[in-house]
Amino acid sequence: MASNDNQKPERVSSGNLGALTAIWPFLKKYTGLMGFALIALILTAAISLILPLAVRRVVDEFGVQNTGLLDQYFGSALIVVALLAVGTGFRYYLVSRLGERVVSDIRNVVFKNTIGMSPSFFEKILTGEVLSRITTDTTLILTVIGSSISVALRNVLLFFGGFLMMLLTSNKLTALAFLIVPVVIIPIIFLGRRLRALSQENQDHIASSSGNASEAFLGVQTVQAFTNENLAIDSFSNLTEKSYTVALRRVSIRALMTVIVIFLIFAGIIGVLWVGARDVQSQTMSAGELVQFLIYAIMVGGSVAALSEIWGELQRAAGAMERLAELLNTRDNIRDPEQPKMLNNINGKIELKDVNFSYPSRPDGAALKGISLVIDPGETIAIVGPSGAGKSTIFQLLLRFYDPLSGEIMIDDVSLRDLNRGDFRKGIALVSQDPIIFATTILENIKFGRPDASDEDIKVAARSASASDFIEELPLGYSTYVGERGMMLSGGQKQRIAIARAILRNAPILLLDEATSALDSENEVVVQAAVEELSRKKTTLVIAHRLSTVQSADRIIVIDDGKLIAEGTHKSLIAQDGLYAKLAHLQFSA
Ligand code: ADP
Repeated sequence: MASNDNQKPERVSSGNLGALTAIWPFLKKYTGLMGFALIALILTAAISLILPLAVRRVVDEFGVQNTGLLDQYFGSALIVVALLAVGTGFRYYLVSRLGERVVSDIRNVVFKNTIGMSPSFFEKILTGEVLSRITTDTTLILTVIGSSISVALRNVLLFFGGFLMMLLTSNKLTALAFLIVPVVIIPIIFLGRRLRALSQENQDHIASSSGNASEAFLGVQTVQAFTNENLAIDSFSNLTEKSYTVALRRVSIRALMTVIVIFLIFAGIIGVLWVGARDVQSQTMSAGELVQFLIYAIMVGGSVAALSEIWGELQRAAGAMERLAELLNTRDNIRDPEQPKMLNNINGKIELKDVNFSYPSRPDGAALKGISLVIDPGETIAIVGPSGAGKSTIFQLLLRFYDPLSGEIMIDDVSLRDLNRGDFRKGIALVSQDPIIFATTILENIKFGRPDASDEDIKVAARSASASDFIEELPLGYSTYVGERGMMLSGGQKQRIAIARAILRNAPILLLDEATSALDSENEVVVQAAVEELSRKKTTLVIAHRLSTVQSADRIIVIDDGKLIAEGTHKSLIAQDGLYAKLAHLQFSA
């Protein structure tokens, strides 16, 4: 439930609706859809504009009592109305389809961009927040493309068309009516800005509360075990309340804007109507003309009111798009080279040349200090040292999750910076200390090591990791669903699945981070044998806490406080009587 507001990716606020232009690259792929939607839109707007003309004729010629003509008018009105209905349906369908398509695309692109980010990105933002942006912020974009823009365009057309028709009907009344326009526009623009800021703040609070909740859910057992549900509830409801308060301010401003706009517009129309009614009385204008003018005026007034509402929505969407653009535009600080070198068959030679490193989030504390190390293909190295010494950090750098501050890491004499991460990572199998098991079946979890493996390969791998016994005892065997993060498995079972995954991957380089720590001694002996068999022909780095693992290694390196302080065999290091001898005495004596 950490709050890390000060570490969010930077937001470059464009200050107005400009942020919405970021939608264009997604829209322009669908010019066909847009074109048809536009045609439907123009057609329906044009029909709406023609209708009042017909009404005037009907009103003015009502007295003439020419039934034939009257029938004709009503007949054609029916056809026009049918066209209007069909056109509106098409417009709705096309525009909504466009919105759904574009929002799905945006979601996919945002996910694609974020899933490839190196860990330092996720140190700055809670995963729940990323999810909230992908789900709720895109929903705002959907409103914009799927309705607001088309409603806005329609109203712009109605506004200008209606204005033109008002002019044609009576320029005196039009001039009078338009005196009100500046009075209406000013509050719209002024309040609109405020709306946008509040909307963005609101979305930020929603995202924080999602981040907050997802963290609490992930650690739900710890929260409950420490009976800290109330802390979690308080911190969640705090954020929800904040978001409510901001939403309330936004809604109040919008309500105020609606009051001002509607009142001004209709007061204006009433005023104009008053003048018009006197013109009809003095017979300088026909009743039909006044009715026609009135309909156009209401149309124009209505379009201004609608535009003012949409203005608010566009502002909200602009805020949302800015938040999404942050995720889209964040450039990872780890990047693949423009022209990567190719490694055809990875032999598994590893070299660290004077590697210095500190984590980006902790620039002052060096995690690795001047580590140099050459590991030959097929060699097994045990890495030993106290907790926090920097052992796992070496793995992080070997996978190029981070770059060293200085020095070089090479695989087969090529620097990792010159390789595509996707290429060399294919040559690495990792079993981490806290194995990540996904919410799917056991089979799929093992298959994760090599997605094109056959079911038979998977079972062989499971057998080698001595996982097959417990798997086959489960009610659905390999098809057993294991729950979120493998909740339904024990620590040792998860480790064996992770080892089976690594065996299946069959990569030339194997990274084992205390891979057998959660196993009981009986299982450990079996799994250890499997791991040894697996590592026989592979370059293996194993972070070890157990004597058995350490003794079977070709070489042991001792890390303390980020420095490589000794290397050798178990015997030679014991003889040196340094840190290793002390650790061995403490840890391996049992
Ligand atoms: P070991 O594996 O030897 O127990 P680590 O390599 O995990 O130690 O950690 C080395 C040091 O780096 C520790 O001081 C740890 O607190 C720090 N560290 C590890 N991960 C991060 C991170 N993501 N950000 C900042 N510091 C980290």
